[in-house]
Amino acid sequence: MTRKKINKLLIANRGEIALRIVRACAEANIRSVAIYTEPDRYGLYVKRANESYFLGDDPLAGYLDPLRLVNLAVETGCDAIHPGYGFLSENAQFARLCRMKGVTFVGPSAEVIHKMGDKTQARATMTAAKVPVTPGSEGNLENLDDALKEAERIGFPIMIKATSGGGGRGIRRCDNAEEVRKQYPRVISEATKAFGSAEVFMEKCIVNPRHIEVQILGDSHGNVIHLFERDCSVQRRNQKLIEIAPSPQIDEQQRKTLGDLAVRAASAVGYESAGTVEFLLDGEDMYFMEMNTRIQVEHTITEQITGVDLVREQLRIAAGEELRYKQDDISYRGFAMQLRINAEDPKNDFLPSFGRVTHYYAPGGPGVRVDTAIYTGYEIPPYFDSMCLKLIVWSLSWEDTIARAKRAIDDMRLHGIKTTAAYYQQILEHEDFRRGDFDTSFVAEHPELLKYSEKRHPSEVALALAAAITAHAGWYGEEKQ
Ligand code: ADP
Ligand code: ADP
Ligand code: MG
Repeated sequence: MTRKKINKLLIANRGEIALRIVRACAEANIRSVAIYTEPDRYGLYVKRANESYFLGDDPLAGYLDPLRLVNLAVETGCDAIHPGYGFLSENAQFARLCRMKGVTFVGPSAEVIHKMGDKTQARATMTAAKVPVTPGSEGNLENLDDALKEAERIGFPIMIKATSGGGGRGIRRCDNAEEVRKQYPRVISEATKAFGSAEVFMEKCIVNPRHIEVQILGDSHGNVIHLFERDCSVQRRNQKLIEIAPSPQIDEQQRKTLGDLAVRAASAVGYESAGTVEFLLDGEDMYFMEMNTRIQVEHTITEQITGVDLVREQLRIAAGEELRYKQDDISYRGFAMQLRINAEDPKNDFLPSFGRVTHYYAPGGPGVRVDTAIYTGYEIPPYFDSMCLKLIVWSLSWEDTIARAKRAIDDMRLHGIKTTAAYYQQILEHEDFRRGDFDTSFVAEHPELLKYSEKRHPSEVALALAAAITAHAGWYGEEKQ
């Protein structure tokens, strides 16, 4: 693929990731173009980009229209499009359209997106490359009989999964044949609704695994390196809540094996750009689960431990430049943790809690990074993801990173909506978590952590008092109307 310098770039996304890309563009001396629909009119990323274009009243349609976005890029003189995560980021047709219109797509080729976006095809590709995959069906399931036969062969418990799934949806566990009969049509219907494809496949259910993923970077000159792993085992309903880099629960030997496997996986498909290879760990066993062909929500923690700006590297790679780093140049220091602060009510089954942010005071101090697009007065729209702020902390030791995360949450003021912040304080205090001993069942197995309201955190009381005292100065308390 011919690669050319990027002078102006259209961001085909919204919210915090759009702002993250605006910032990378500003540092790379690239003009940034934002897009927005009606609910995002007052978005921070819109104000911060060099130019912005309105895509209409429908909250979502504008962000999901490949042809319109590529045409807009051409009309506004952009040489590139960054898709962020979600939306069109793993849409091969979008990448192909960019190529046809001479716009650089910041990501891997349409062929690689297609190959890895289809989970059964990705499994076959990895098997051929001698990367161990989670045991499961060779291809997609043909019908219920096939599903029942495969389940017997693989052995219960099993997972039925949407072949083009993402975002933790379209995944169901079955412990016996009866459940296969029940869940098989459900997954098909979910997959059709959410991903526009009825294809499903089966995997052995790894009971209480750890989710460990490896960040990789590949360039158009055939170089592929990894930037160590992230532990994303703290999940609720297959969705990540807290991410940690490096994993506090693997040793150097496992770390090296995972890194090598991820590089082998990415090299096997000639991967260009930033990407993630996800694995499930079951004791000493490691299984390839899927590859995400985009920048991820949790890329931030890898940036904190390695010092590499992943979005900036994506831009350099897309412009055809050679990777600046060899594998031996990449090292990590300390531990970073990202808390996904979601606009949800943990005490009410994590029901989304959208609305106006009446007061926001950002946490700060040493080792604290906040990636968010909210501000005091901002109205969180109900049409998108409920993640409203990424709180990222870094420190030299695991213990200090936990202490810093707790302190940073105490620092933060976020009023007007319910969030998951106080719930995370409970996780941070749990002894298993502190020992670095947790797997994907941690959240489900500790429902008692949701009862935080009954026992108010002492430092919260102290801070509430401080807030009350300083409120008249308009500094720390609720915003004055
Ligand atoms: P990450 O692995 O980067 O944490 P997530 O799985 O949490 O990614 O997804 C990131 C965002 O993209 C979320 O908003 C999620 O809902 C969305 N998303 C991921 N995959 C898909 C997909 N295949 N279709 C639609 N949305 C998706
Ligand atoms: P998505 O594309 O939605 O991110 P993944 O295939 O990455 O889907 O799976 C998301 C999560 O679901 C994993 O992190 C893990 O917690 C759980 N999961 C998926 N497959 C399995 C499996 N075979 N055994 C156990 N857990 C699984
Ligand atoms: Mg995944």
